[in-house]
Amino acid sequence: MRYDTEFAPAIRPIAASTDDAGENLLTLFGDHSLDAYRHGMQRCVELVGRTLSHNRRPFSGVEPQELQPELEAIDLDRPLESLEASLEEIQRLYLDHAVHFHDPRYVAHLNCPITLPSVLAEAIATPLNTAVETWDQSAGATLIEQKLIDWTSARIGLGDDADGVFTSGGTQSNLMALMIARDNACAAMPGHAGNRHHGLPQGYRALRILTSEISHFSVQKAAALLGLGYDAVIPVPCGDDKRMDIAALAAILEDCDAQGLQPFAVVATAGTTDFGSIDPIPRISTICRQRGLWLHVDAAYGGGLLLSTRYRHWLAGIEQADSVTIDYHKTFFQPVSCSACLVRKRHQLRHATYHADYLNPRDQAEEGTPDLVNKSLQTTRRFDALKLWMTLRTLGAERLGGYLETVIGLARAIHRQLQHRDDFEVLMAPALSTLVFRYRPSHVDEDADIEAINRHVRQTLSRRGEAAVAATRVEGRLYLKFTLLNPHTRLEDLESLVERIVAHGKDAAGAPNVPPAVVASGS
Ligand SMILES: *Cc1c(COP(=O)(O)O)cnc(C)c1O
Repeated sequence: MRYDTEFAPAIRPIAASTDDAGENLLTLFGDHSLDAYRHGMQRCVELVGRTLSHNRRPFSGVEPQELQPELEAIDLDRPLESLEASLEEIQRLYLDHAVHFHDPRYVAHLNCPITLPSVLAEAIATPLNTAVETWDQSAGATLIEQKLIDWTSARIGLGDDADGVFTSGGTQSNLMALMIARDNACAAMPGHAGNRHHGLPQGYRALRILTSEISHFSVQKAAALLGLGYDAVIPVPCGDDKRMDIAALAAILEDCDAQGLQPFAVVATAGTTDFGSIDPIPRISTICRQRGLWLHVDAAYGGGLLLSTRYRHWLAGIEQADSVTIDYHKTFFQPVSCSACLVRKRHQLRHATYHADYLNPRDQAEEGTPDLVNKSLQTTRRFDALKLWMTLRTLGAERLGGYLETVIGLARAIHRQLQHRDDFEVLMAPALSTLVFRYRPSHVDEDADIEAINRHVRQTLSRRGEAAVAATRVEGRLYLKFTLLNPHTRLEDLESLVERIVAHGKDAAGAPNVPPAVVASGS
């Protein structure tokens, strides 16, 4: 019931301020507009503050068809020419309905609450509009990013020759790592002078990437973008613990030999998106070394363990990787986007290099100018490193590690409770901070009925703005998922969420005497 009392009325539109500096805002940002800048920033801070203090639920529950007409009514060719009017509009279209990742009952996807210093860093980096692709556009920003890359590599233990670059996310980091691995594999093919100039060699159809059956879909996407196709990715079965089965990996590799296929990379996941499971990296690494395969570790989710004194050892073996993906915008509590791709040998990044005369000429690189574009898939690129920098320089890495330890503890605590209930089915103990489960009252047996109930539960929670819970499919069955990344979520929050799940689940299943088939569709 407590949820209902927390329903907040929609925020009243903010009143136009009396000293409306709106007109001064109709200009470019610069030293001539500092007064208007201060005023405008102040108004934005007030608006965000109001949104957070008034909207005390993770989501308004709005549906696309409810919001769409408002968008359709707006003519982008007719500006409002007033800051207050445009803030009022953006509040209606966006802020009133924004999903609040900092809310304790947002437990859906891998979105984290973010550190306060990182928010302030964005307030510095954006007005300066620094672009970090070349030294001559960024100066100190380039060195700040480089120092964070070196720090991350050292935390992983990649060695003195390691290097890397910030990216837009784990998807781009995985693409970049697999591009490097592919280009190395192709360069080794007889009679081929390299992909960068000549495209893929004759034998490219034999190339294969191996990764667990529950690794991130960006591996498949990367394979497609790299000209190899989804079919070039061979899924390796997992054991009951959702970690890659090493015997299966070895068997598949032998099978590839027999078929004349050419595996060139294994992607190990350190923290699968659904289960948080960490593949046995040391054993995978041994196999990779024996066969000369590229080992990429996708630590988009588990990367935060690098900062945990208690659980750092879960990442054992990551130091043997040829490349690593780290998503700072997940378990380092940074704003979107903030991610990195790291490699063990810096010269591998040459696969991403193109020298343009106007931007990063070869002689500039030979002189030692640090132009980050030389190792990036992007050209113009945001100064995303500043937020991590300010977080580390103010809060410190240890606190971030502590946040992750807290949510791991929370996942274990709620698992202990659900495990003992006969109306919940929990697939496995949490490996990191997710829990995959479904509500299953004892009188309901059919999978289709259980699915209908859980679907109803999730939709109702969302529509009422009571909580944001994810759903996923495991072996064809629908499950609900908690992804816990908020150290301020308390066990009591999850306990009352579980009670809401039971209440909505009972509604869907009907009263105890009503057969569940009444609500189930198509069974
Ligand atoms: C989130 C995630 C990705 C994708 O990262 P983005 O930052 O969303 O692009 C890749 N791998 C894993 C394991 C992830 O959890």
